[in-house]
Amino acid sequence: MNILQQSRNLVLAQIQKACQQAERDEHSVELLAVSKTHPSETLAEMYAAGQRRFGENYLQEALDKIEALKEFDIEWHFIGHVQRNKTKHLAEKFAWVHGVDRLIIAERLSSQREASQAPLNICLQVNIDAQDTKDGCQPAEVAELVTKISQLPNLCLRGLMVIPAPNNAAAFKDAKALFDAVKTQHAHPEDWDTLSMGMSADMSEAIAAGSTMVRVGTALFGARDYSAKA
Ligand SMILES: *Cc1c(COP(=O)(O)O)cnc(C)c1O
Repeated sequence: MNILQQSRNLVLAQIQKACQQAERDEHSVELLAVSKTHPSETLAEMYAAGQRRFGENYLQEALDKIEALKEFDIEWHFIGHVQRNKTKHLAEKFAWVHGVDRLIIAERLSSQREASQAPLNICLQVNIDAQDTKDGCQPAEVAELVTKISQLPNLCLRGLMVIPAPNNAAAFKDAKALFDAVKTQHAHPEDWDTLSMGMSADMSEAIAAGSTMVRVGTALFGARDYSAKA
């Protein structure tokens, strides 16, 4: 067994254990492999180990990998900050966009997604623990955004995405409470099924609080070397 298979098995075991401890079904949490900075060959190896969902942060890097791996049955997730002038590529090439935090971004994605494609899956990014960052809407804005975005064509609004500060497990509980509270605002509440939270260092805490998708990079691929980035 190669090293990527081993690390994937370890992460899957950790997810399973966290689910057992939380008395949750182990299939209620999906693993998104965060592959930013890693070359296509590494993704192909992880694919061979059984992984199908990959998350990327940087658009040009992601587009290159999507092209290089187009023969593979990969579900591509964009988890980076969404810039207004980049929405067309996201609408065309990805299955999921996790970083939507403004109505205008959702409107652009909706109008740029071809009706012939499957609806683009969306998570609303929320700045759940009042961090000093431009990314993510405020918790108080979520209900209205859910009402509006869930009515847009060509999108499927799936849930929330959060990136709390390290060692702030309470933020995961806040995110879960908000996720449950705003479901009634959704035009199609049955679509509201995804709470994207938890990374390598805190996936167990996120699962305990109700995460349905953990975004894991380092624990799968090892440390990232940004200096080697093409
Ligand atoms: C890089 C990144 C991750 C993965 O982080 P690790 O600590 O390497 O698991 C998850 N989510 C987002 C939004 C990221 O940018």
